[in-house]
Amino acid sequence: MERTLAIIKPDGVSNGLIGEIIKRIENEGIKIVGMKMLHLDRFKAEGFYYVHRSKPFFNSLIDYMTSGPIVVMVLQAPDVINRWRKLMGATDPKQAEPGTIRAEMGLNIERNVVHGSDSKDSAMYEINYFFKGTELVD
Ligand code: UDP
Ligand code: MG
Repeated sequence: MERTLAIIKPDGVSNGLIGEIIKRIENEGIKIVGMKMLHLDRFKAEGFYYVHRSKPFFNSLIDYMTSGPIVVMVLQAPDVINRWRKLMGATDPKQAEPGTIRAEMGLNIERNVVHGSDSKDSAMYEINYFFKGTELVD
């Protein structure tokens, strides 16, 4: 069994896509074991995207991620890190496989609707960044 962190980003929430995205997760047989709605401040968003701090897109990414509420979720299933990345599609919606969330709902390479951890290590960091153990169910 594996866990990953999923985020419905501000464009997903403001465009009314929460239900559609959760439906896709549940239809895959992936369990949601933690969920909350948050509005990140700059400090919290910068800490989350720390690995990207020196990228040219960093400041714009932080503007975007603090622009409105988000939904953060912990997903649990076998191989869920890869499975959720597959459901999301590639970072750039123009490159994403047809049928994926980003291909169908993403606006551009920045405003791409969803986040998913990219490895076991980042999943652990990201889950602990938003959730206490007591906030997750089993
Ligand atoms: N991003 C961006 N411009 C880029 C690459 C990424 O604005 O050229 C944003 C985008 O929102 C992306 C996030 O930064 O989801 C994190 O980038 P990463 O390369 O980790 O992509 P992801 O893992 O989300 O597919
Ligand atoms: Mg990433």
